[in-house]
This record gives sequence, C-alpha cells and structure tokens, in this order.
Amino acid sequence: MNEQVIGYIESIVKIRPALITEMEQYAVVHSVPIMELVGIEALLGMLRIQQPKRILEIGTAIGYSALRMAEVLPKATVVTLERDEGRFEAAQGFLSRSPDGKRVVSIFGDALEVAVEVEKHGPYDAIFIDAAKGQYLKFFELYSSMLSENGVVYSDNVLFKGLVAEEQVEQKRIRNMVKKLQNYNAWLMNHEEFDTSILPVGDGIAISKKRGEQR
Ligand code: SAH
Ligand code: MG
Repeated sequence: MNEQVIGYIESIVKIRPALITEMEQYAVVHSVPIMELVGIEALLGMLRIQQPKRILEIGTAIGYSALRMAEVLPKATVVTLERDEGRFEAAQGFLSRSPDGKRVVSIFGDALEVAVEVEKHGPYDAIFIDAAKGQYLKFFELYSSMLSENGVVYSDNVLFKGLVAEEQVEQKRIRNMVKKLQNYNAWLMNHEEFDTSILPVGDGIAISKKRGEQR
C-alpha cells in the first residue's frame, strides 16, 4: 500500500496506552521487528470478530503483539514462544507492567523444539505465526494439529515488503527467504484442510481457516 495511505491510517488509529507506546518506541530504538501499526490493527480487528479463547503466538519479540492481543480479548490466554534470550527477558519486563500481561504465558525456546510443552496449554482457536520466515511451513505443520474445530492460522510477513512479487532478488540470503515464503504461500493456498486469503496489509497477512468436519 502506498506510504501516504499508510500514514493516513496511522494518523487516525486510536491513541494506544502509554506502555504500548513505550514498546513501539523501544522497538524503533532497538530495531525489533514488531508488527507494523496498520498490520496489528488489522489483525486485532479480525481477532475481535473471531473471539478466540486460546491463542498461540510464534515469535514474541518484546511482547508487543501478545500484549495487544491480550488487551483486546479480555477473556483470552496468549501462549507465546521466543528463542532469543534478550528479547524474551525484555518481554517479561514489559508484560509484568500490565494487568493483561497476566494472561500471557511466555515459553522460552525454539518453536521447533517446545511443541510438547505448547500442546499442554492447547488446543488453540488461533495461531499467529510471526517468526523466522524460512520456517513458516515447519511451524504450520507442527502446530496446526493443535487447532480447535474452527481454528484460524494467521501468518504475518507473507508478502515480505513486496519481494515475493519480484522477478529477481539480487541478494542471495534474501532470495532464499523469498523463495521459502513463495513456497509457503503456494502450499498454503492449496492446502486441502484450510481456506486461505492473503491480505496486502502491513507486511502481508495470510488468514487460513480450518474447514472443520461439516461444510
Ligand atoms: N510478534 C512480535 C514480533 C516478532 S519478531 C510483535 O509483533 O510484537 C520475530 C521474533 O521471532 C524474533 O524475536 C525472533 O527471535 C523470534 N523467532 C524467530 N524464529 C523463532 C523460532 N524458531 N522459535 C522461537 N522464536 C523465533
Ligand atoms: Mg512480523
């Protein structure tokens, strides 16, 4: 979306609580890739409609999206995973400063290694994937079985700044990541058990709804 339109939406989004604003500033200062404002607002809008009771988040960073989800859904529990120790600690600090942070369960470790513990807190009505872009398919395969009957998987960054639509990407590391995301998107769109839509908002959000038994 063009910068002017994004700026316009950002200018009319409701003022956030002081702690949230502080986290947004911390993310800028420390280069933490928290969700873009327009993206998180779109996700929160979908969650308000879906009203999940249990949410699994892969990629806590400093706890920004986890706390925003917990604030918007006062009855929900958010289980969130982070493998970076510094960020995990920073998240604990921020989450402890909000009453809504009490409904966030933080698990330290690589998402590909903590499934047994994650399952104990499930099943999940919503899974939010926002971690290493090259591993999305693995995350999905590992955790989608923990979804409840009408569960939804939300995947962030699926358009990767528009790079997934480029014919040629110069840098090899970036090119590899783009290929993996393109592969994930195509795989997801053709998944037999899910119906997926990709929204070109923020860095691109895929919404994958489990079909359930009756159609
Ligand atoms: N959801 C956050 C932003 C997450 S940024 C928000 O919007 O506020 C992505 C985070 O995922 C990073 O902090 C990174 O350390 C973490 N991450 C990447 N791969 C991971 C993995 N395999 N397991 C656990 N955490 C991972
Ligand atoms: Mg993201």
